[in-house]
Amino acid sequence: MFNIVIFGKPGSGKGTQANFLKEKYSLYHISTGDLFRKNISNKTKLGIEAKSYLDKGDLVPDSVTIKMLENEVLSNKKVNGYIFDGFPRTQNQAESLDSFLSSINLKINATIALDVSENELITRLLDRGKTTNRSDDQDIEKIKNRFNEYNTKTSILINFYNKQGKFYSVDGKGSVNDITLRLFSLVDSLI
Ligand code: AMP
Repeated sequence: MFNIVIFGKPGSGKGTQANFLKEKYSLYHISTGDLFRKNISNKTKLGIEAKSYLDKGDLVPDSVTIKMLENEVLSNKKVNGYIFDGFPRTQNQAESLDSFLSSINLKINATIALDVSENELITRLLDRGKTTNRSDDQDIEKIKNRFNEYNTKTSILINFYNKQGKFYSVDGKGSVNDITLRLFSLVDSLI
């Protein structure tokens, strides 16, 4: 099993690149953002609980998010590995993920960050907001709040995974294909 966390600020291309990594290495892709949006559109209890947080660009509380993630892993156990996209986003989530995975004899093998400047990300997110229905991509204040959530709660995980010798960073600028090739060559060197 090879388990990857794809890491980076909102708009850095985590979802796009996770799809390529999933295909190439036969991984099971878990995006917590996609799971929340699916629950919101299906109006489930979880979706109703999460909606106000997504609308503002705030992180959903850990208790809700961690349980959702664990359920998704436990419901999809016959896989070659997982690619976690948008999770973990807090120290508590990262610690919970480590202990949860170890309880089922798994571990994170690599955390790979896509490195892109906030200025470039604002342009990308506003562009994406024109073609999707994501209200959190259409409002500059919400985008800034998401960066603030990242900078205050998520960026500390760089240190968390660095200490474990599992943190890697890839230049997230350039064409989608160039970035994919950078990721493939990194993962090939780790497998
Ligand atoms: P994303 O699609 O990854 O940009 O996530 C969209 C939104 O979903 C975030 O702004 C949060 O409101 C929520 N979300 C996704 N993943 C998490 C997480 N790991 N912890 C808390 N909230 C999350």
